[in-house]
Amino acid sequence: MVARGPGAVGCAHCRELGADKSCAVCTHLVCERCAADWATCSEPSGRTFRIGRVSGSLIDVDPTGRYGLVKRRWRQLRLVDLRSLAWLERDLPSHGWGNLVPRVTSDGRVLRPEFDSVASNNGPIFSGIGEWRPDGGHRYTDVPQPMRATGMSAAEDWYWYVTDTELVALALLGDGASHCEVYEPLPRKVVQAVWFDPIRQLLASGTWGEIAIHRVVSDRLVLAGRVKTTGDTLSLQLGGGFLMARVRGGDLRGVTVWKLHDDFSVGPIAARFEHLECEALARDGRYVAVGMAGGSVIVQSLLTAEQTELRGHTDDVTYLGFAGAEQLLVTADDDHRVIVRPRTRTGYATALLPVDLAEV
Ligand SMILES: [Zn+2]
Ligand SMILES: [Zn+2]
Repeated sequence: MVARGPGAVGCAHCRELGADKSCAVCTHLVCERCAADWATCSEPSGRTFRIGRVSGSLIDVDPTGRYGLVKRRWRQLRLVDLRSLAWLERDLPSHGWGNLVPRVTSDGRVLRPEFDSVASNNGPIFSGIGEWRPDGGHRYTDVPQPMRATGMSAAEDWYWYVTDTELVALALLGDGASHCEVYEPLPRKVVQAVWFDPIRQLLASGTWGEIAIHRVVSDRLVLAGRVKTTGDTLSLQLGGGFLMARVRGGDLRGVTVWKLHDDFSVGPIAARFEHLECEALARDGRYVAVGMAGGSVIVQSLLTAEQTELRGHTDDVTYLGFAGAEQLLVTADDDHRVIVRPRTRTGYATALLPVDLAEV
């Protein structure tokens, strides 16, 4: 029998003898060289970096997970390449943002509602969508119905908004062509939140006290599911076999995730969160994630109901999104920190490598 001192242990990465360090990613014993080089580990790890020292907040990530849209000082916008961890060169124009959230597309275009000079009792009315391309080009597309100042949302490359007359407009803003459909999911009610699933042609809409799911069939809405609340609907999301809603007031205040039946009628509650800053539902319906004041991120598996707390933020979590076919979880905080975590076999990576963004 041979005594096994520390020097006799083989490195879990390169197999050489002399492993006496713990790999920060997979936690196996590795040699000093492998411990210092995260690329030698086959397990995925996240990246943590800051997008500014005194300002900079991440406000959107494109569906592929490549481009992050960052609001900088004086409301200037800039794109960051989350794959190469580098800034893109150009600042985008900053006028008239208000609380509108611009969106970034999978090919790096930035879209936002644009003002008309018309004002109504509900605030400014927007008559079109402005589009900035990575090559510096700009295009303006009229929308068929003026939109309210509630901003727009996006999934894949579809954009949607509520019109001045409580209709929901769904727009596909492809390169060179645009297409727009208008629906009335909640007749005679104020539409407070909307989510559209372009692949399954499902439209979720919410008002005070009620959330509805419609299927879009031959350009018409067919009611599939409905759930009652006792509050205002602040946001909605569909993912896999689940509906997520953020409600203000009433028994369901906070974020609730319901399981959907095969016909998209609303089933039992699968997850509940209160006192959170932001939330996201993976489009494949496997995970829901919420960001909390103080910086913690909770990820719950919707298959097993198991919850994991992810650490690494240094202030309140302000943005949270799944991207890249849900293989990435991107989170950001009030300390101008961004964390990009790849999906692992058991959730999302907990080991984080600090990096610096390359300057242009
Ligand atoms: Zn090694
Ligand atoms: Zn390792």
